[in-house]
Amino acid sequence: MIPLVKTFIPERKELMPALERELYSGYIATGDTVSLFEQNFGTLIENENFIALNSGSAALHIALCLAGIEPGDEVISTPMTAEPTNTVIAQTGAKIVWADVDPKTGLISPNSIRSKITERTKAIVVVHYAGMVCDMRAINAISQASNIPVIEDDAHALLAQFEGKPIGSNSAFTCFSFQAIKQMTTVDGGGIAVKDPSLVSEAKRLRWFGLDKGVSRLGNDIKRIGYKYAMNNVTAAMGLVQIDHVEGNVGSCILNGRYYDERLLGISGVTTVPYYADTKPSYWLYTMKVDRRDDFIRAMRARGIESSPLHHRSDTHSVFSNSRCDLPGLDEWYSNYVHIPCGWWVGDEEREKIVEAVRAGW
Ligand SMILES: *Cc1c(COP(=O)(O)O)cnc(C)c1O
Repeated sequence: MIPLVKTFIPERKELMPALERELYSGYIATGDTVSLFEQNFGTLIENENFIALNSGSAALHIALCLAGIEPGDEVISTPMTAEPTNTVIAQTGAKIVWADVDPKTGLISPNSIRSKITERTKAIVVVHYAGMVCDMRAINAISQASNIPVIEDDAHALLAQFEGKPIGSNSAFTCFSFQAIKQMTTVDGGGIAVKDPSLVSEAKRLRWFGLDKGVSRLGNDIKRIGYKYAMNNVTAAMGLVQIDHVEGNVGSCILNGRYYDERLLGISGVTTVPYYADTKPSYWLYTMKVDRRDDFIRAMRARGIESSPLHHRSDTHSVFSNSRCDLPGLDEWYSNYVHIPCGWWVGDEEREKIVEAVRAGW
């Protein structure tokens, strides 16, 4: 079976010496290796204001803290995502207000965002779902006009682009995840890139209980409660090795994705997804719409190919029942979107086989 997701672990002879050195270095907590990882990852995403954390969820939480979100505030978000995007918002006590998605792409609809803004709206969370990039031109214009910060959840879209630059420096906050099945993994891990450099020290305090690591423990005074969110040196050592492979791996995803974009065009029962102006997806998963999805998934499985919609819409979970509203765009999208394998483990032969399997019908 060609899987939809797979964990990339660099070869033993490359990874193990790096991990071993770190483990026996005498300092495995948050230290110089984390700083080096921050520098290198910052270079990769073209934003040096990057703070490494222990998960993508922590990154989202710190973004919401930096945006000053408090109980009673409203945060506009998308239901078409992995659940942590929204459980973290709920954790702050803010009310989630769902924006609908564009039924052609499954990505948050700028028009819907605009219609959901109230005087209580304090942040807009957008997700570059499956590696496709949201309509950032329109979303930037809304953010500027309303003065509401945007938090980009980039857990699915490492090295995807907007206006020729990797996602990471466009909005006030960009959040990354290095969880096991993401485009780059440190087993678990994450990080936040901020646009305003003056927020870096606050972010660093928030990841360490509210303490300032640059001041002696006894000289510290916690003024705002922080969390246990920092990345450690062992994880960072793994991240440094992963960085050496990430452009190659994501590059393979992109080549496969573009191949599908061309080869799946015009096949009966398949509708490919259009991409927004000035955006380039990084194809963590390949996404399309198919008629009679259950039949499609069954036929692909019989041909040795895993396919699935993968994610549950967030808005129908009981914990989010206060936020329920009509989302006709999502209803339309949710009924027939599907993912097919597209990652670095899909070689020329496999992708050819996948196209042939789709072409054969279901
Ligand atoms: C994985 C993921 C997260 C959370 O990341 P963790 O590192 O698992 O905490 C957030 N948002 C999306 C869209 C994700 O897929």
